[in-house]
Amino acid sequence: MASSSRALTRLAGSQLSARAQPQLNAQAAAARVANLTTSSAASRATLSSPIISRIQRNQTISSQFKRTYADSAPSTPPAAPKKRKIRYFRWAWRLTYLSILGSLGYVVYDGFQARHPDDQFVPDPNKKTLVVLGTGWGSVALLKKLDTENYNVVVVSPRNYFLFTPLLPSCTTGQIEHRSIMEPVRQILRAKKAAVKYYEAEATHIDHERKVVKITDNSEIKGTITENEIPYDMLVIGVGAENATFGIPGVREHSCFLKEIRDAQAIRTKIMDCVETAAFKDQAPEEIDRLLHMVVVGGGPTGVEFAGELRDFFDEDIKKLIPDIADRFKVTLVEALPNVLPMFSKQLIDYTESTFKEEHIEIKTKTMVKNVTDKFIEATATTPDGKKETITIPYGLLVWATGNALRPIVKDLMTQIPAQKDSRRGLAVNEYLVVQGTRDIWAVGDCAVAGYAPTAQVASQEGAFLARLFNNMAKTEALEDKIRDLSSSLNLKPGNAAEVAQEIEATERQIRRVKDLQPFHYSHQGSLAYIGSEKAVADIAWLNGNFASGGKMTYLFWRSAYLSMCFSTRNRVLVALDWVKAKVYGRDVSRE
Ligand code: FAD
Ligand code: NAD
Repeated sequence: MASSSRALTRLAGSQLSARAQPQLNAQAAAARVANLTTSSAASRATLSSPIISRIQRNQTISSQFKRTYADSAPSTPPAAPKKRKIRYFRWAWRLTYLSILGSLGYVVYDGFQARHPDDQFVPDPNKKTLVVLGTGWGSVALLKKLDTENYNVVVVSPRNYFLFTPLLPSCTTGQIEHRSIMEPVRQILRAKKAAVKYYEAEATHIDHERKVVKITDNSEIKGTITENEIPYDMLVIGVGAENATFGIPGVREHSCFLKEIRDAQAIRTKIMDCVETAAFKDQAPEEIDRLLHMVVVGGGPTGVEFAGELRDFFDEDIKKLIPDIADRFKVTLVEALPNVLPMFSKQLIDYTESTFKEEHIEIKTKTMVKNVTDKFIEATATTPDGKKETITIPYGLLVWATGNALRPIVKDLMTQIPAQKDSRRGLAVNEYLVVQGTRDIWAVGDCAVAGYAPTAQVASQEGAFLARLFNNMAKTEALEDKIRDLSSSLNLKPGNAAEVAQEIEATERQIRRVKDLQPFHYSHQGSLAYIGSEKAVADIAWLNGNFASGGKMTYLFWRSAYLSMCFSTRNRVLVALDWVKAKVYGRDVSRE
């Protein structure tokens, strides 16, 4: 519209005064309307012919319009579609703007709430003492949903934060900073209505007959008291698992694990140490190859995700900054079974293996590591004709990801309970997660054997189930107390007997409803894994079946799923910022 009025002004001549221009514009507009009316009448006539195809009609209309515009130069293109487009963009922009403002407002509100929590009260000391061991997925899911005013809750864990393990492989390369996936347990507990005690210590012994837990302060700084005992009425064990080494010599001394934040930090430091040492002046070629050979043992999701992240780090950042070693960097994944990711469907296993091939990650399946030295590993490989051969693989960095083993405290408790003697992989629990052969002890997560895989999904559902169970138990007890009081009031004041009897009946009905909690049932939402090059694989539970997908879109799904699962808004914001930072500036290749 503005350009056409400028053209009109040029046409009319420069002697026209500014005051005359609106009049001229009005005349031009009238002329345009007249022209358009004529042309649309013409086009209507053309359109009325039944034998003309749609395409021809469109051509006719557009040529009519073209002619109209050519005839009357100071006219505009058809206003309706353009206006609709402008209106659409205007609304899209307003919505985006409002949602950004809304999200920002929510982030500020959430931060304010976290920094200014409501006052907490100390629960009645006569209430039962509930001791929770661990601050991982299982225990934190329990603490999040538990009504802490019903118990004297005591949490014991050597780790004073919750760790969002699914993004831990990204920390090994600096794609995500470690603090972004940690949530201080003090922050989690401060948000509860009633105060909860926390002791940074390791539980070293459970005496289930005396109902006490022995705790030890194993941190660097110690006070005069380093050991103590905590009596409990109810105990929840959520201590997770430690890294399995199967007693293979040299594993503990020479390899890195990937379970804790300090493991990810150690790996990050070691990657850069290997790279910088390989780039050292006059380094021997075979030593460069050894140093730049990164070996991952274990083709489960931990090993696969780490291998993918590592290859990305090298291809996207290290290679660009240190081009002299560009062709020497190598990643090898060693797996004892015939394929990687055994818990995923066949098509996703094939997809992962072909993607790794494209990414130049070598997969050595049917290869069982038997010995580890400081510079190489020895493994028994099964050749395609079924023969076994011993191979030696030199390495610069070795990451050991072969699954879970029992923690000492779990082993210790199992040896005390005859009902646990046949259990190999953890504390056998019943359908209410009670440790078999004990009273008032429950177990959740990787240390419990309830018939499910040791995953965060299972642990958090178990923790949430226990919270519901304990909340119900507290409610039941309160209602039972109420019945006791009502019964005694019945004896004291027989006058209103009918009324009290009615109330007792109602309370009993309430108890039956509260007590009616179904046993634990795990609901599998699916499995997700990152496989490098901005690709992921997903096996999602869909209706009664399974939906398998892999690739870049699945990677976006992987990202959004894990972002939404992060513990807090603070974590979500930090992780999202880390992703943006890594995309814009690349990962930081500083060694520490
Ligand atoms: P943990 O989360 O391991 O927590 C155990 C807690 O107990 C810790 O706080 C620990 O400090 C504490 N503790 C240890 N010993 C003692 C003691 N003696 N006394 C007191 N406290 C103690 N699962 C998924 O479902 N999806 C994923 O994407 C996924 N990704 C993963 C990625 C990696 C790298 C790893 C290692 C695991 C991943 N998992 C994933 C598995 C998942 O992390 C575990 O199944 C989950 O952490 C188990 O929860 P938990 O509560 O049993 O134990
Ligand atoms: P895992 O138990 O899933 O896999 C370990 C692998 O190591 C196995 O495939 C095993 O065959 C192999 N292995 C064992 N000893 C070996 C040896 N000596 N030489 C060569 N290979 C050997 O372990 P993980 O990947 O650490 O996972 C642990 C748990 O955490 C699993 O339940 C897993 O599902 C879960 N997890 C899930 C995700 C995810 O969903 N994205 C990510 C990480 C972990």
